[in-house]
Amino acid sequence: MKYQTIDQFLENLKSRNPGEIEFHQAVYEVVDSIWDFLKDNTHYLHSNILERITEPERVLMFRVPWRNDNGDVEINRGYRVEFNSAIGPYKGGLRFHPSVNLSILKFLGFEQIFKNSLTTLPLGGGKGGSNFDPKGKSDNEVMSFCQSFMTELSRHIGSDTDVPAGDIGVGGREIGYMFGQYKRIRNEFTGVLTGKALNWGGSLIRPEATGYGCVYFAEEMLKNNNDSLDGKKVIISGSGNVAQYAAEKVIELGGKVLSFSDSSGTIYDPEGINKEKLAFVMNLKNIQRGRIKEYSDKYNCEYYENSRPWHIKCDIALPCATQNEINEKDAKTLIKNGCICVSEGANMPSDADAINLFLSNKILFGPGKAANAGGVAVSGLEMSQNKMFLNWSRNEVDTKLQNIMKNIHGQCVEYGTNKKFTNYVKGANIAGFIKVADSMLDQGVV
Ligand code: NDP
Repeated sequence: MKYQTIDQFLENLKSRNPGEIEFHQAVYEVVDSIWDFLKDNTHYLHSNILERITEPERVLMFRVPWRNDNGDVEINRGYRVEFNSAIGPYKGGLRFHPSVNLSILKFLGFEQIFKNSLTTLPLGGGKGGSNFDPKGKSDNEVMSFCQSFMTELSRHIGSDTDVPAGDIGVGGREIGYMFGQYKRIRNEFTGVLTGKALNWGGSLIRPEATGYGCVYFAEEMLKNNNDSLDGKKVIISGSGNVAQYAAEKVIELGGKVLSFSDSSGTIYDPEGINKEKLAFVMNLKNIQRGRIKEYSDKYNCEYYENSRPWHIKCDIALPCATQNEINEKDAKTLIKNGCICVSEGANMPSDADAINLFLSNKILFGPGKAANAGGVAVSGLEMSQNKMFLNWSRNEVDTKLQNIMKNIHGQCVEYGTNKKFTNYVKGANIAGFIKVADSMLDQGVV
């Protein structure tokens, strides 16, 4: 057995991947929560599964040259991390954001392996993107970039190999430009990307899936505690795809949404964000591509510049913006203010200290890999529909999504419950790990 302790393993991981702090953080969270399980099931340690599962099968990095509207040449860096294909083709989003680097994409790809395993669908784990910033760019510039990005990526992906989707900075517009370029280069119409528009192979409920799924997961956690969302005060961070549809579902289930944010600040509306105000946010963010501050100007409510929403008193918090947006201090404030449930729409929004505080205070804490798995799950359903050349109705897809979220909740309860308290982090990590690790062992040393 190569590693006797977690520390030995993590030291080796850090020396193999120097400076990749987000990746170290994501691996630490998983290994820490499954270590006791591994010690009871030493065959995984004997076959060195930890080192194998933390080493991506393939990492692609490439130059993305394109021309801006002034005719100048710009250069970005493109990535695709094909992390693990033990249970299906690589699957995971593309992120376009100036902060993107290899560490962030490896953390996201690693999380994706376990998330995809939890969905019960045959999906491997991958992630990709670029340090390109779509903010402030014209449609023409975004198209030039997407076409150049896909010109290289198209050599490496395919509907049975690797099927990317959207993430931060990649929505319907970007997926459209990339799909068009893939089709042009490969001369094939296949489900090579998910998050497509309905007219050309998309699935109903895909745009809603991550946000809805995150709220379904919160509702399951509450139900398990004889409670519900009805009448609860909910704060949400972010105002993009996940945040918008999380808000829509909270409103539908009788909760009161109090906040949205973006990278410039937070709005707080004590009266509650109703359907009409949400429609304003959707138009502002998706069509006008404006800033959330404009909400406070229109509805005359508080705006906190450069601030996140965690100081606002609530029953439930849904972090739906980005990684490491809740630290220990934020977690303390949330708990002090009476928050009983945190369901992560974003990936790794809570840091390790915050998670420890939530767990030790017996907060219902749904980690991203479980709570936000609805997005990739409906991407999987989009792939099924593409393969079968048919479309399911809105109701059919939504029912399947609800069942998948229930199933994920059930797996977390099965593997994470001790003395009536469910540690969803542990439950999600062990359940996600077993399926992938067993598949890797079945397939030999590859
Ligand atoms: P969007 O690009 O649609 O929205 C992202 C939102 O988060 C925007 O409001 C953005 O503000 C804000 N944000 C981004 N980066 C930061 C930052 N560094 N600090 C503060 N705010 C920030 O992305 P999505 O809604 O798709 O993704 C949100 C999260 O959900 C991500 O963690 C993503 O990985 C995760 N996720 C998404 C899935 C999906 O299906 N889309 C699936 C599963 C997880 P601004 O406009 O100012 O940048």
